[in-house]
Amino acid sequence: MKTLLNHINGQWVAARSGATRDILNPADNKVIAKATDSGAADAEDAVTAAREAFDQGPWGKSTGPERAEKLFALASLVEKHAEEFARLDTLNNGKPLREARYDAADAAGCFRYYAGLASKPQGQTYSVSDPNMVCLTVREPIGVCAQIIPWNYPLLMAVWKLAPGLAAGNACILKPSEMTPVSAVKLFELMAEAGFPPGAANLILGPGDPVGSTLAASDRVDKVAFTGGGVTGRKIMSAATGNLKKVTLELGGKSPNIVFADADFEAALEFAMFGIFAGQGEVCSAGSRLILERKIAEKFLPRLAGACRKIVVGDGADAETEMGPLVSRAHMEKVLGYIKSGLDEGAKLLCGGHRLENGPLAAGNFVEPTVFVDVPPKARIMKEEIFGPVLVVELFDTEEEAIAKANDTVYGLAGAVFTSDGAKAHRVIKRLRAGITWINTYHPTFNEAPWGGYKQSGIGRELGTYGFEAYTEVKQININLAPGRIGWFKNL
Ligand code: NAD
Repeated sequence: MKTLLNHINGQWVAARSGATRDILNPADNKVIAKATDSGAADAEDAVTAAREAFDQGPWGKSTGPERAEKLFALASLVEKHAEEFARLDTLNNGKPLREARYDAADAAGCFRYYAGLASKPQGQTYSVSDPNMVCLTVREPIGVCAQIIPWNYPLLMAVWKLAPGLAAGNACILKPSEMTPVSAVKLFELMAEAGFPPGAANLILGPGDPVGSTLAASDRVDKVAFTGGGVTGRKIMSAATGNLKKVTLELGGKSPNIVFADADFEAALEFAMFGIFAGQGEVCSAGSRLILERKIAEKFLPRLAGACRKIVVGDGADAETEMGPLVSRAHMEKVLGYIKSGLDEGAKLLCGGHRLENGPLAAGNFVEPTVFVDVPPKARIMKEEIFGPVLVVELFDTEEEAIAKANDTVYGLAGAVFTSDGAKAHRVIKRLRAGITWINTYHPTFNEAPWGGYKQSGIGRELGTYGFEAYTEVKQININLAPGRIGWFKNL
């Protein structure tokens, strides 16, 4: 069986300890690969390689057009291998193939977008008070960037980090989730083919602690970009204080999806389901709270329950599958634990609520699409991110009440409103404390537009020009057009 290796300084290398970890298919928990299981010393090796590439190697001196050329080549290679990427992510993460195919296409698009940006105008010039002075700014890479990502979009999260990081000229160290390294390894095979010099991008496989924690704490790392849970985000932020490295965090959410009675009923129904059950609910921006106008609840909820019961749950590799398995046994147990806590705290199940164990599903980590109603406002399932296929429904009577319920969360990643009243839609969105919002749709994400959250959903933005800027330092340059003495000191 293939052992997945680290890619450090242009070489495929095993962890110094020789340890490996089994990588599983969540649809049946069979081993699909072995991955080298790195430790702190391997993480230090990756930092050394990145440091050299940035401080002494050709990468640190590369121009925007040179980087653009490599990123365009990589975009084409990802596109060429898109079906293979999709199959690898489905195999390793469990998501249905149709979603993984979308991710692969989006990944190629992301490389292409940042390839374009690498050579576009940056910086500003200023008209300042001294007529003999030209004042301008340039954007420069930050240096060595550690990029730590989760398991829910194995390929796409890697690309959201690497594409802007490399376009801006940084040397990168990617640490995928220890559960889902497969597509990242394939990506690094293509990066070598696209011509990135040794050390420009490094891949290190292994657990959060010590691999991720070593990168986050290292004085030789200039930035850490993290996507994952809030508990880990806090650890990373505090580890980063030693050398005050730059920190960006993309964390979780408990995002509201507000449906008014005047919305297109069928569209609101389908998006309520898509919002939470796409990606098995393992999506940071999932619409996990449906905030529904009471007037239509009697009609809406039975239709929702009926449609949820018909969702085809199975192996993501089957063409018919609409929702796949959860990423691991442990994560499935966590989600089932939340469902039990909901029942214990007095919420009512509208549908679902159980593990699926019939036939071949018994070997995997399958949970029914689950909807709770009559949820006490302080219940854990109302407050905490479940990161699974569990929707809670809240009812409202007035616009004011809908907004108050939507904002009643420590998170602020995303939110949506469904209504046919344009002014109402804008009024509600204006007051939503969230970084990504939608009107009459849920989930579309664009490489061109910024991604990130308010409140405890994170710090900073990825994607778009904001995502590029987050990988740069701004340097002010002042040029004196009339060099000469200023007469400050009499005796020179
Ligand atoms: P996680 O925080 O457990 O792990 C994320 C990554 O951090 C993994 O690579 C892990 O190995 C690493 N890690 C763990 N402990 C570490 C430590 N002490 N130091 C450094 N690195 C460490 O999260 P997860 O379970 O993989 O992912 C689920 C979470 O990610 C959810 O909360 C979800 O909302 C969030 N998420 C957010 C976004 C977004 O864009 N905002 C996108 C996807 C996922």
